[in-house]
Amino acid sequence: MRLSRFFVPILKENPKEAEIVSHRLMLRAGMIRQQSQGIYSWLPLGKKVLDKVNNIIREEQNRAGAIELSMPTLQSAELWQESGRYDAYGKEMLRIKDRQDRPMLYGPTNEEMVTDIFRSSVKSYKDLPLNLYHIQLKFRDEIRPRFGTMRSREFMMKDAYSFDLTREGAEHSYNKMFAAYLRTFDRLGLRAIPMRADTGPIGGNLSHEFIILADTGESEVFCHKDFVNFDIPAESTDFDSVEGLKGVFDKWTSLYAATSEMHDEAAFKAIPEGERLSARGIEVGHIFYFGTKYSEPMGAKVQGPDGKEHFVHMGSYGIGPTRLVPAIIEASHDENGIIWPESVAPFDVVVINMKAGDEACDGTCELIYAALTKAGKDVLYDDTDDRAGTKFATADLIGVPYQIIAGPRAVANGEVEVKNRKTGARETMTIEAAINRFVA
Ligand code: ATP
Ligand code: MG
Repeated sequence: MRLSRFFVPILKENPKEAEIVSHRLMLRAGMIRQQSQGIYSWLPLGKKVLDKVNNIIREEQNRAGAIELSMPTLQSAELWQESGRYDAYGKEMLRIKDRQDRPMLYGPTNEEMVTDIFRSSVKSYKDLPLNLYHIQLKFRDEIRPRFGTMRSREFMMKDAYSFDLTREGAEHSYNKMFAAYLRTFDRLGLRAIPMRADTGPIGGNLSHEFIILADTGESEVFCHKDFVNFDIPAESTDFDSVEGLKGVFDKWTSLYAATSEMHDEAAFKAIPEGERLSARGIEVGHIFYFGTKYSEPMGAKVQGPDGKEHFVHMGSYGIGPTRLVPAIIEASHDENGIIWPESVAPFDVVVINMKAGDEACDGTCELIYAALTKAGKDVLYDDTDDRAGTKFATADLIGVPYQIIAGPRAVANGEVEVKNRKTGARETMTIEAAINRFVA
């Protein structure tokens, strides 16, 4: 992508409305724009990052055996009357009427709808276990939307829903998502700690929130320090192994970890003082097992091996991609801007032409841009006629992991500079070596 033809509305000034660094940087880097309170457009640079985050989530959901579908944002109130949540949900639910005066709502979550899909076609235990997920917009009319897309009213959620014949089966489904979540957040460059959590309006009795430690987090959390160094389940994890996944769950729940709602001061104090971690955190994922809470009132049952009908045991599993993007920035930035982990960076590398219009610089940059693009790299080429200082500032701000800098003096020697955004290390090398550095 040539920067001259891209759309990145960079802000020079610090936006006053932004209270935390991720919100500030997302606005300054031209990633998002607020359209009305708590409702955002994702501009091209932001959209590229969001897509990469969603793809990692999707890959790990699929690896764990979940199946993707897409449910609508608008739902009929009838389904919610069946479960009893239409009245219970309160003001966070945006209620609307269509032209026939039928009550509708903008979905804050999808337990009812997915249960309806399930009951309409699954009739036998032989079709279980089943886990269906989608990545879709939600709306919750939050009392205090703030921090940009960290807490917005319209936001994206990956929500998965599992169906099992028995409680034991449902626990295995829960453990699959538990392990998938550990892998997902790790691939996003984050250390998320699962903590015992309250179930809120979703209901149920087994629940974990996945929390990233960050000073700007809205939750107060308490845990054992050792979680910071625990191993993440490998890519080769066998998601069909009940014992194996139980092992992962047991290990990751073997030490104390709880949010303030579930905090037990005595249990926390039992940890030696030097090993206690009391911090603030950002909730990026939340998983629930709630048994037959929805299947009973909505009549979602299957025939078991005993020939009898059984209400299915369900769980639901959420991740917030539009919250994850700012959470990644909270965890990875410096005074010059964002430092993207390679897995979600909007571009793999940016080629900076320090003297656009100069024949040698243009030629070198075009050559590198073409070679890397051909090799399948996602390359941003700063071909604008801005001053070199502005170009460096932009490249640092938008946080692309590597910069290839082509200035007249180096280019005259057949060389360019390669800068690592994270470490700041710069290395001069031949043009060929620079290309090979990313292609090889
Ligand atoms: P919170 O406690 O932060 O209000 P929640 O517990 O109501 O969130 P869940 O119902 O557990 O949220 O939703 C699953 C995930 O969706 C959350 O872990 C979070 O990542 C994301 N999420 C929830 N609400 C928002 C929001 N207002 N803005 C952005 N992401 C959100
Ligand atoms: Mg939650």
